[in-house]
Amino acid sequence: MYFVSTRDSKTKVSASEAILQGLAPDGGLFVPSSIPEIDIEKAPHFSDIPKLAHFILAPYFEGDLLEDELYEMCCDAFNFPVPLHLYNDREAVLELYWGPTAAFKDFGARFLAASLERILSKKGGRLTILVATSGDTGGAVAAAFHNREHIDVKVLFPEGRVSSRQQSQLTCYQNNIEAYAVAGSFDDCQKMVKDAFVDKELAAREGLTSANSINLGRLLPQMVYAFSSSLQMYQTTGEKPVMIIPSGNVGNACASYWAMTMGAPIQKITLALNSNRTILDYLENGSYRGRASVATLANAMDVGDPSNMERLFHLYDDYESFSKMVSAACVDDETIKKTIERVYRDHDYIICPHTATGEYVRETGAIDSPTIVYSTAHPAKFETIVEPIVGLPVEIPPSLKQLLLKEQHYKRVNCDYRSIF
Ligand SMILES: *Cc1c(COP(=O)(O)O)cnc(C)c1O
Repeated sequence: MYFVSTRDSKTKVSASEAILQGLAPDGGLFVPSSIPEIDIEKAPHFSDIPKLAHFILAPYFEGDLLEDELYEMCCDAFNFPVPLHLYNDREAVLELYWGPTAAFKDFGARFLAASLERILSKKGGRLTILVATSGDTGGAVAAAFHNREHIDVKVLFPEGRVSSRQQSQLTCYQNNIEAYAVAGSFDDCQKMVKDAFVDKELAAREGLTSANSINLGRLLPQMVYAFSSSLQMYQTTGEKPVMIIPSGNVGNACASYWAMTMGAPIQKITLALNSNRTILDYLENGSYRGRASVATLANAMDVGDPSNMERLFHLYDDYESFSKMVSAACVDDETIKKTIERVYRDHDYIICPHTATGEYVRETGAIDSPTIVYSTAHPAKFETIVEPIVGLPVEIPPSLKQLLLKEQHYKRVNCDYRSIF
């Protein structure tokens, strides 16, 4: 098995090369050269996530440097539960937030960290991961890479512009993680990262790399819960479920499309979007145009030009097949609030603003099949939005509570990238 660039099928690399490189040399994204089909009758039970993960991911690591360590990597990365919360037999919420930072990005970040640590211990060398964050990504990356060997992490966040819970999650580490509060905006943080990468001498000396969601190592593990949850629903109802996925950069959805192509028992996938409507516009008028993002209550989905669209366009490479396979709906902020309230009233269940976009799509989609809505974050991460709506404090999950109690460590810096080296 090898991976090719979305822009040039002659660029062929192994899984570990793709993970190490991040972006392909031509600026494209790595995708599997072909998607293997697997026999789900032979799959391990849906509740044994590390075993199931190994079964699904093994074809992608055949002949790879990491082949023999894949099971150990799966145990390392998938060390928390992924439960389906059932409203009834046919309507479920997939809780993707029981990892250390209470959002689904823990899966990708932990698998990437498990991969990179092992690749470097085999090939030698040292890397510095540079990550600019508007809140959540930096926390997941810091947690996943904390105390990993051969890797340092520098996290840049805009001072005073992340929530206090987010700041605690970014600054609670020491050793190989350094947090920087930048006197500027998120865009300034991103510019510092770009400038550092452009400084070739520095980039080479520090072994700079990124851990953003275009890295294959973050995408592959996200197939696993598409399998585990659809298998569970299929085995209990005898019907294939429709998966409803709150989407921003479309990494989560892309991995689920790969899982469906491999043979996961999925009827259909629907993207739930906030007011960033680029994908819906494309479905409605057939021409793709990225735009500037708009700020919404579901802020981790505020993406105007989703980077993983390039992978979806590679999978469904003309408008006809794309529009046959992909459907989407937009949900505005007012509706997000009403949906949080309705779900609490109907099911005595509290959801985050991102998950609310998915619940609204389920409510209004007139879907005959069983449905699974991906819950991408724990509501306690968005307590300032959720608590006034449901009228009570949201209990903080234990892993997150632990992080919030730790002492903060960070340096305050100006917007010049040289101030962090
Ligand atoms: C990142 C994120 C999303 C969007 O996921 P993509 O893979 O970028 O589509 C949705 N919800 C939450 C809570 C997130 O952190």
